[in-house]
Amino acid sequence: MVKFPCGRCGARLQADDELVHVPGQCPACGVEFLVPATRQYLAKVATIKRAARVKEARLTAKTERRATVAARAVARRERCARAAEATRRAAQSFFGRRLHLVPCLIAMAFLLGALGHWPYAYYKILRWVTCAAAILVAYLACEYEQRWAAWLFGAVAILFNPLLPVHLTRDIWRPIDVITAVLFFLAAIFIAEPRPKQESETEPPP
Ligand SMILES: [Zn+2]
Repeated sequence: MVKFPCGRCGARLQADDELVHVPGQCPACGVEFLVPATRQYLAKVATIKRAARVKEARLTAKTERRATVAARAVARRERCARAAEATRRAAQSFFGRRLHLVPCLIAMAFLLGALGHWPYAYYKILRWVTCAAAILVAYLACEYEQRWAAWLFGAVAILFNPLLPVHLTRDIWRPIDVITAVLFFLAAIFIAEPRPKQESETEPPP
């Protein structure tokens, strides 16, 4: 509602806001005029516009926040996928470069198992298993140019060879079995095919 005096007779007039700038006629003196935009009316319009701007700004901020959250979720998923891929590659690389890993673990199990009490046949099998695993490790160590391991496991193979068995007492065999098991463990970890030169470790993510 705008309130204003008639320009000619000074009668107090009023009109709805929608009628601002619309032609009208004074009921008292009959003069024609345009309903004026009063100061109150302009202030009210400014307030409404400001409220609309604030509301829009809030909506924009909300939309941006949502977009940010979504982008973060995508980035997190991508990071997870990259980490999983890296882990898979590392595992593949770890096992792929250690063909002797399973034989080493089997030999270890037999050697540590030898600490229990078994029939004589067990110790015969133990010699075969340990000797075969040691030959494999020595061969691979030679291939991978880890000479120290090749000599060491060559000696183990000879010590455990089943064809010309070395006869020692049980008290001597027990520590030898444990030490040999440890050697197989170390071989499983430290003997590995060298990485190919062109395979870069710091390959940038796709
Ligand atoms: Zn008038």
